[in-house]
Amino acid sequence: MNHELKLYRERARAWLAEHAPRYSGQARHGLPFEDDLALARAWQAHKVQHGYGCITLPREFGGAGGSELEKVIFCEEEMRYDLPLVYFSISLNNPLPIFLRYAPDAWKQKLGPATVRGELIWCQLFSEPSAGSDLASLRLKAVPTEGGWLLSGQKVWTSWAQIADWGVVVARTDPSLPKHAGLTYFFLDMKSPGITVQPIHRLGEEKDLNEVFFDEVFVPDEQRLGEINGGFKVAVETLMIERYAVTDESGYGPTLENFVDLAGNARLNGRPALEDGEVRARIAEVFVERQGLRAIHRRALEAFARGQAPGPEGAIRKLLLGRTRQSLGAMAMDMLGANGAQLAPHGHAVTDFARAWLDPSLRIAGGTDELLLNTLAERVLGLPQDHRPDKGIPFNAAPK
Ligand SMILES: Cc1cc2nc3c(=O)[nH]c(=O)nc-3n(C[C@H](O)[C@H](O)[C@H](O)COP(=O)(O)OP(=O)(O)OC[C@H]3O[C@@H](n4cnc5c(N)ncnc54)[C@H](O)[C@@H]3O)c2cc1C
Repeated sequence: MNHELKLYRERARAWLAEHAPRYSGQARHGLPFEDDLALARAWQAHKVQHGYGCITLPREFGGAGGSELEKVIFCEEEMRYDLPLVYFSISLNNPLPIFLRYAPDAWKQKLGPATVRGELIWCQLFSEPSAGSDLASLRLKAVPTEGGWLLSGQKVWTSWAQIADWGVVVARTDPSLPKHAGLTYFFLDMKSPGITVQPIHRLGEEKDLNEVFFDEVFVPDEQRLGEINGGFKVAVETLMIERYAVTDESGYGPTLENFVDLAGNARLNGRPALEDGEVRARIAEVFVERQGLRAIHRRALEAFARGQAPGPEGAIRKLLLGRTRQSLGAMAMDMLGANGAQLAPHGHAVTDFARAWLDPSLRIAGGTDELLLNTLAERVLGLPQDHRPDKGIPFNAAPK
């Protein structure tokens, strides 16, 4: 990493040390949802003011006009604090950049800067009950009408739809074309008549997921992003924008060091758990894995520094971190006996092993474990593609 980037990291670290404590950790304990959300908006606006919000987006919309590598560096440093970033996890990463790429200029001026500052929040309405991994199977239909389109159907697993002001949505405009070819991409006001948002309750206390129902929701044609029936291309582009998600080294779970501390204090069969062969073997395994992941991460940073995108081997990182987070959580709970099943008050998956075990979302969202294995098989190892029986067949004639 060159001298300039080292300085960037030092400046970011010092800036965070001065500013982040007012918005993180103790400052958030016990806050009701609405207050935590307000704190999140204030933190986002504060970052934008100091050139650390939406680092890679153009300055004319309030971004910092910086590089992908600066963004990764800032995220790594920011992640050391328990900040309320989660409400923007979708909004700023995918919908906003694709909107700024495709929307008419007047709309970009109207919504762009307010979204960058965190005043507006966006959701991403892609997944449906029978279209998750296979996004092109979606059924929400868009029928042409005077001046626009009427959308009817259902979306599911929509993060933060309940607080979203705007959303990006993919709908089927021509079912007589093969599944990838008949889709169109829009942005829409989430307060439009005909939209109903219903919460999905999770095992933990996260309040992020929703089902969204569309009953003849009118969307003006000027809110189309890309060509009619060209929506799949825009959807794939949306997912490629956040090419490299920065996770912490434990996949947003408690660290290996926390696990070692716990094993030092817990007792198994009357002896410190740290002396147990199985526990020691697991610690060694996770340590070796972590060294491997660090090497992959370093290669990704080098690719960014050369102005390139990291390769598909990045899938290994999410695959291993998601699994390890849950397996370490399970072992920690076993070591603690009956007490292990207790959820720490104010705890979350990053600090509490039981919560980390209980939450499999890292293994589903953004590509399930099985899909990541397919990616590695096909794109890293060069193995043949899966059988695709509906390839090239009109959507309405394909086997369901
Ligand atoms: C916390 C969270 C937040 C989310 N937020 C959003 C959001 O904001 N917007 C949005 O649009 N979506 C969101 N999603 C949905 C997410 O994108 C989907 O859950 C994901 O794509 C998987 O799709 P699915 O749930 O329909 O499962 P399916 O695709 O139906 O998969 C079911 C099972 O079959 C396996 N499987 C499927 N296809 C294959 C294959 N070809 N080969 C091998 N195995 C296969 C899967 O791995 C899985 O085990 C979110 C999900 C989670 C968990």
